[in-house]
Amino acid sequence: MNRTVYVNGNYLPEKNASVSIFDRGFLMADGVYEVTTILDGKLIDFKSHMTRLKRSLKELNMAEPREMDDLLEIHQKLIQVNNINQGGVYLQITRGSADRDFVFPKKSQPTLILFTQEKNILEATSAKSGWRVISIDDLRWGRRDIKTIQLLYSSMAKMTAISAGCDDAWMVEKGFVTEGTSNNAYIIKNNTIITRELSKDILHGITRASVLRYAKEAQMKVIERQFSIDEAQNSDEAFITSASTFVTPVVEIDGKAIGNGRPGAKTQRLRDIYIEESRKNAI
Ligand code: PMP
Repeated sequence: MNRTVYVNGNYLPEKNASVSIFDRGFLMADGVYEVTTILDGKLIDFKSHMTRLKRSLKELNMAEPREMDDLLEIHQKLIQVNNINQGGVYLQITRGSADRDFVFPKKSQPTLILFTQEKNILEATSAKSGWRVISIDDLRWGRRDIKTIQLLYSSMAKMTAISAGCDDAWMVEKGFVTEGTSNNAYIIKNNTIITRELSKDILHGITRASVLRYAKEAQMKVIERQFSIDEAQNSDEAFITSASTFVTPVVEIDGKAIGNGRPGAKTQRLRDIYIEESRKNAI
């Protein structure tokens, strides 16, 4: 690949981009991130992603980088120079580099990096075939509302799902589904969309917020509450949302088909509405 990436104020060819080995992101996963989708060369839900980014920084008492007000311009420039039509912009901020210590450094300059990734989201095969998921214990830390770069357990859970011949894992805590490895989880029963309520237990998905808003505008009923794997297996439809998958159907959980085992009509409608509305609001 020969992308142009952004590192601490500079646009560089990716092979020339580097950060310090003392960076706390590298040593301690002391950092936060966002992924904003690119569709038609434009950004989806950009403002909401930046609002969540600021909140993540605040929750970790991490300084904002100098470029905070220029982030839209940096995103747009990377899309333009890399000529991306569909995919995403990955942004990461860490507490910067300092001698390794559990105490946060008093003075450190945050590290800011951004890069683009091309991906065909609209025509993804999973949108047509749906995902098969397994359930797995949620063994992550207790502040999943902060979008940190410590993603090892989520990555292990994804690998467990793939080893089982499936696409993803729904994580379960105290008998109820929290979320997917990198997405929010939903079921539909009797025309009602059910998804776990917001708390420190899950990431407050930007796609989740948009999809629920559009669903209510389309007169669909939404209930935010916990559900179990058993309830999910007996639902009419199931799906997940994330910036990089939009709305993607789930057709099987722990080997049991959901509904007729094919992507549901309401899920498809939600995906269509999400894409249509997001396109209108893209910048
Ligand atoms: N939950 C988790 C654990 C995630 O990693 C993600 C995606 N980063 C989501 C939910 C979905 O969030 P968003 O819609 O903002 O991409």
